[in-house]
Amino acid sequence: MEDSATHIDKLVRRNARLKSLIQKYKQSHHLQHALLQLSEQASTVAELTLLYPAIHDILQSFIPSKSFYVVLHNPVNDLLELSYFADEKDGLSVPLKYDQHFKEGLTGHVFKHGKTSYFTKEQTQQAVEKGQFKALGTPAEHWVGVPVYRDKTIIGVMVAQSYDKAQSYSEQQIELLEVMSLYLATAIERVKKRELLESEVKIRTRALTQSNQALNEEILHRKKALERQQILFKISELATLSENLEDVYQHVHKIIKTITYADNLYIALYDQQSHWLSFPYCVDEYSDNAEPRPFAKGYSELVLSTEKCQVIDAKRAKSLIKLGVIERPRDIPPEESATSWLGAPLKTSQGVIGLIVCQAYNNKHEFSQDDCELITFVSHQIANVIQAHLANQELKQSHQKLEHRVAEKTKELRQANMHLQMQMEERKKIEQQLYHDAHHDSLTSLPNRSLFLTQLEKTLQHYQRYPEQQFAVLFIDLDKFKDINDQLGHQAGDQFLISVAESFSHCIREHDLLARLGGDEFVVLLTHLTEPQQAEDVAKRIIEIMKKPFCMKGQCIQSGASIGITYSKTSYKHTDEIIRDADAAMYYAKNAGRNRFECFHPLLNATTSQHEAENMHHLDDLPMHFRSSEIITLDESAHAESLLEAFGEHPVLGSTSFEVLKKFATDRIQHFEVELSLLKQAFSLAAQTKLQKVLFPCSGLVLERINFKALCHLLKAHDAKKICLLFNEQEIRYASAVQIENLKSLVAQGFSIGLNEFAKDRCELNLLTEFKFDYLLLSSTFSKRVLQQENYHLQLQGVLAITHIQNIQVIAKGPSIFNYRTLLDKHGLSLFIGKQHALAPFNKETTSTHSTIPLDLNI
Ligand code: GH3
Ligand code: MG
Repeated sequence: MEDSATHIDKLVRRNARLKSLIQKYKQSHHLQHALLQLSEQASTVAELTLLYPAIHDILQSFIPSKSFYVVLHNPVNDLLELSYFADEKDGLSVPLKYDQHFKEGLTGHVFKHGKTSYFTKEQTQQAVEKGQFKALGTPAEHWVGVPVYRDKTIIGVMVAQSYDKAQSYSEQQIELLEVMSLYLATAIERVKKRELLESEVKIRTRALTQSNQALNEEILHRKKALERQQILFKISELATLSENLEDVYQHVHKIIKTITYADNLYIALYDQQSHWLSFPYCVDEYSDNAEPRPFAKGYSELVLSTEKCQVIDAKRAKSLIKLGVIERPRDIPPEESATSWLGAPLKTSQGVIGLIVCQAYNNKHEFSQDDCELITFVSHQIANVIQAHLANQELKQSHQKLEHRVAEKTKELRQANMHLQMQMEERKKIEQQLYHDAHHDSLTSLPNRSLFLTQLEKTLQHYQRYPEQQFAVLFIDLDKFKDINDQLGHQAGDQFLISVAESFSHCIREHDLLARLGGDEFVVLLTHLTEPQQAEDVAKRIIEIMKKPFCMKGQCIQSGASIGITYSKTSYKHTDEIIRDADAAMYYAKNAGRNRFECFHPLLNATTSQHEAENMHHLDDLPMHFRSSEIITLDESAHAESLLEAFGEHPVLGSTSFEVLKKFATDRIQHFEVELSLLKQAFSLAAQTKLQKVLFPCSGLVLERINFKALCHLLKAHDAKKICLLFNEQEIRYASAVQIENLKSLVAQGFSIGLNEFAKDRCELNLLTEFKFDYLLLSSTFSKRVLQQENYHLQLQGVLAITHIQNIQVIAKGPSIFNYRTLLDKHGLSLFIGKQHALAPFNKETTSTHSTIPLDLNI
């Protein structure tokens, strides 16, 4: 039985052993399963935190430990960081600074040595006392630390601790801890790797997302920028495309409409000098009030003063009003008050020139900060365009102003100019008047002495260069002018002078010059003289005019004119000489009985000596001689007559025709005596010639009452048939009744008479019928004129007709040139004066004096 008891005992023991074995195997199996699970978890869990509870579970099941923690080494900061902590004493919350302590405590000791360590409370204390490490936290009764390795590097420490003295750790349990540390290391590595990968993926994804976002933003930004750029471009185009500001505003409005709500838009301009706002553009569904106003406290002013874009909604409006920044008119109906208002300043380099405003009513739109940004963005460009147009407008206005001013100034100038011109004209007139006054006689308005002398000077100079262009000066002194003054008064004398001046001016040609020298003295300058006769013609016309009596206040007085003529001569060097000579000739005319003209000859000159002058009065003292010219036909064959002329040898003048010499004779008796003696000689010469008739010139003196008897006596005493007495036509024309009677008596007595110098100034045809002339000698002046003018040709035909009827022989005087005669012949003239021959006894002198025929008057 004992055996059975032993056996039972054995069995019980075996059973117990079996049981413990079973228990042990069961436990092992369980552990194996748990470790398998842990291994599986270690390779699948995403985070370590999910692994630790599994480890903890195993620990709690196989190691009676409720306190368990894991620290991992962070290579970045070289700290031991708590990865898992479960402590029945210290709980789960772990202060962060706790990490620091691990390195200094028991955990750090294990990490440092890299070996599994088991410490009891006493051992810990002893080690602390030894200074191996610091005592941290609540001291555990049993403490096991197992290092966690990855490859050969320690990466952390796994710790289990027990606060129960009875609960120590067996070697198996410590081994289990070590096995778990291996699993943990694997899991850590894997999780770390995955975490690393995942975080990398996350970082990359984030980076990609970020870059994607950035790209999107960039695209958006660029798109926005492009749009803005296009808007800006459109606006900048307005500067050149728009005709005027109104156009600009309208275009701006259109553009703003493309970027925001702009049904209501206005543009205000601010004048910094006057502090006034004007509204050049306004489109609004409620208000059309665009009247300018002074700077006040409106929304617009807020934009202007802040120089920033303002978005104002009802709420902001209220607070602004409350703050006193804004003042709104009270009478605006609520529906007409903008529910959203957006205003941007128009900034230019010259400051804020105004603003652009969009507003919405009845909540149709709410302007955002984006709108504000956009409108601010474009407003700068708009401002510049408006500024440019304003400047342009200003420029145009100032240009217009300038043009206006220029026009005004031009007008003023023109007026001033006109005024000046008028003044100048006035001055010119005054000058002309002064000149006229200085050069004209105030009474008759005729040129005065000064002007006359100037003109004469010019004429003389011209003549000195062109001697063929001859001139003559007539010196006129009125006869007995004093009588008019005395009898009718000085005023009447003046009137007479005026009327005489008027009359004289009709006697001269346009280019001639009539002047009053002073008193009753006048002068005439005759230019373009083709023959000396023209000057005599003028003198005769003047004398003719003066024949008319001057009547005033019922009284008539006969005046007259004594005229002295001088002709241009190359010896004239000064005008004084010309005036002097003309005056001398006039003086001579006065002496010769007044109312006549005389031509100057050198004897009249003051330089002529007294003796020489006296000689002039003694014609009988002059040695005389005759010259004869045959009357010839065109073929130069001699006719039956000759012209006999007397010449005197004057001490000054040389050989001078008696026709000229007798003019100087003052002693009429002596003159007549000389004439008679010359006639006597002519008779004797005529007696010697075989020619039928000798034509001999006589003066009217022989016809005068006191002389006529003597003449008749002489004629009767000689063979008068051979002589024809030639009388000067002019003398006959102005002859006295006695002279005319005596002339007729000559004819009646059977003497032959002829008319000399016919038609020198006038063609008196009646003379041809009144007297019975045998010969008619045409003056060279008339002969020349016949060739020049048609009316003289007609006069000649008249002369020829009458002379033909009257049986008068017509002889033409003139230069003894063949051509000249040929021409005259064509006009019906057939007899001419041939060459002059000197007759004895003066043959010696005549040859030498031939070229010195004076005063070439009759050439
Ligand atoms: P003669 O025939 O010799 O020329 O004598 P005359 O009476 O014409 O007198 P003379 O020529 O010697 O003098 C001219 C006079 O004319 C002198 C003067 O009393 C007068 N006289 C001069 N100038 C003026 C004038 O301007 N008006 C008037 N009424 N008489 C004047
Ligand atoms: Mg006089």
